[in-house]
Amino acid sequence: MKTSTLLRATLCAILGTASAQALALDPLSYANYDQVRTRALHMDLKADFAKKTLSGYAELSLDWLDKSARTLDLDTRELTISKIEAQDAAGRWTPVKYTLDKFDEEKGQALHVQLAAQSPKVRIHYRTAPTASALQWLTPAQTLSGKRPFMFSQSQSINARSWVPVQDTPSVRFTYTARIEAPSGLRVVMSADNDPKATGKGGWKFNMPQPIPSYLLAIGIGELEARTLGGRTGVYAEPQRMEAAAYELADTEKMVEAAESLYGPYRWGRYDMLVLPPSFPIGGMENPRLTFLTPTMIAGDRSLVDLIAHELAHSWSGNLVTNASWKHWWLNEGFTTYVTTRILEVLYGEEVALMNLQLEQEEAIDSLKDIPPAKQALITRAADTGSATYTDEGLAYPKGAWLLRTLEERAGRAVFDPFLRGWFDSHAFQSVTTDQFIAYLRSNLLAEHPKVMSDAELDEWLYGPGIPAGAKHAKSQRLAALDASTAAWIKGALPTAKLDTKAWTAAEWMKFLNDIDSQADAKRLKELDTAFRLAKTGNNEVAFRFYRAAVHAGYRDIRPQMNAFLMSVGRQKFVVPLYAALRANAEDRAWAENVYKSARERYHPETQGSVDKQMAKQ
Ligand SMILES: [Zn+2]
Repeated sequence: MKTSTLLRATLCAILGTASAQALALDPLSYANYDQVRTRALHMDLKADFAKKTLSGYAELSLDWLDKSARTLDLDTRELTISKIEAQDAAGRWTPVKYTLDKFDEEKGQALHVQLAAQSPKVRIHYRTAPTASALQWLTPAQTLSGKRPFMFSQSQSINARSWVPVQDTPSVRFTYTARIEAPSGLRVVMSADNDPKATGKGGWKFNMPQPIPSYLLAIGIGELEARTLGGRTGVYAEPQRMEAAAYELADTEKMVEAAESLYGPYRWGRYDMLVLPPSFPIGGMENPRLTFLTPTMIAGDRSLVDLIAHELAHSWSGNLVTNASWKHWWLNEGFTTYVTTRILEVLYGEEVALMNLQLEQEEAIDSLKDIPPAKQALITRAADTGSATYTDEGLAYPKGAWLLRTLEERAGRAVFDPFLRGWFDSHAFQSVTTDQFIAYLRSNLLAEHPKVMSDAELDEWLYGPGIPAGAKHAKSQRLAALDASTAAWIKGALPTAKLDTKAWTAAEWMKFLNDIDSQADAKRLKELDTAFRLAKTGNNEVAFRFYRAAVHAGYRDIRPQMNAFLMSVGRQKFVVPLYAALRANAEDRAWAENVYKSARERYHPETQGSVDKQMAKQ
């Protein structure tokens, strides 16, 4: 899409930005948001579990920027559209013409709505496909009670278009309202103002008064209970999981306060969480007002609450200040990863935060061997042409955080903390590019403190591969204390029975299992499992690292437990690398493919896609 100079100037004013980069249109969206932008969305949808569809209409309220424009281009994916109507200035609705382009595997289908005039509102009547990429429809058997079905969404990055026809780019923000019909006995929750007292009579109604980008549209429907945790925090979960969930998440209110002490008021009203069935494909999703969580974070001992800190941190980095396109996604994830460690430090002390940080940095370094150099840069200078050039999915988090940590350590917190808070405050409810951050960094920090980072080093962090040589590596004393015994155990000098693990936290187990990976044979792994029942731990981060080491060691007695893990956990972070490790062993390959045959239908479409890709590799 080309944009005229005049239009760029108009858009500049509207976006409140002087950056030309911000005006390049998002290549992952078909929307002509340089001409017309969605201001508000209303959804009126009915959930049909037998057909696995949502059907009804979406109504978009529009701001027209280009006086000559008469077309509204939207993103869709597998939507069946029955009718589109437009409202005229007098409030009358009339049917209008539209066309759908050819289907694109990555982006879906462009929908062109042809209008006689610049309508203030357009209504699209449609239904979703049972295979909608954002939605997973679970049978009763896939839930804890086994009695009622469940459905949930995962819209990030570009799957919102599979359940709502929208301008599906993080550059466009809109408020939303919704009325959702669901079978009785099921509760509907959304990334909006959930009311625990609502009954769903006349449909479940929602209002999201803060403007959000489309990837934060979220819905969950199931047999759900609500429980209050603190003044503005609460949890929704399946009844059988509620006790464990409420226990695990008990610190959430304190966590919100800790984040506020660092970065200013939480701006979204309530902070609730929805604990999903195990097939949820990721750890957590920062849907505003209602974080979606994997049940695999319920370890029984609150050892994985850093996941909550991460999703909560997104209330500032990501949800409040949003990457303008997915090319800039380190602005969401790198910043959030940095803020997470700061929240953990306030709540649990310096050493816990440091252990977390050291593990994060070590795993980042270790991941570099599998990432092509071009995908190791935080950003490229080239125009945004599509996802093939974006930063590696795993690396954007720790590398972005490492850059901010470096700036913080050199500038000092007295300078850096107000700087970062100022970035969030001055760009609240905006979509931003890396160039905008660089400009802000130069004028609000580096101008006065030029020694903090040279231009050359900043370039190396942003545009170079790997981690710059000048980066300081976090060193936790508690983790350092493990090194001698780990080395002795690997050599066989320290028997398994003599490993002094009594005071180990999950972080120490993760560090130990990372370090012995590929260094110990099946016999030693069996000893570990017998002594510490690692395959049975409630902490899935620990269990995953044990299974990975077991696969590398050829410890196959563990297969029944690993089979149960792969059948019940759908989190991509765990299942994708496990299948990859299994397929790399000739003796495990057929077994892994067999497990996947049964497990596949239990996974979310996102996870299926990732594992399918893994399985197609030779
Ligand atoms: Zn995140």
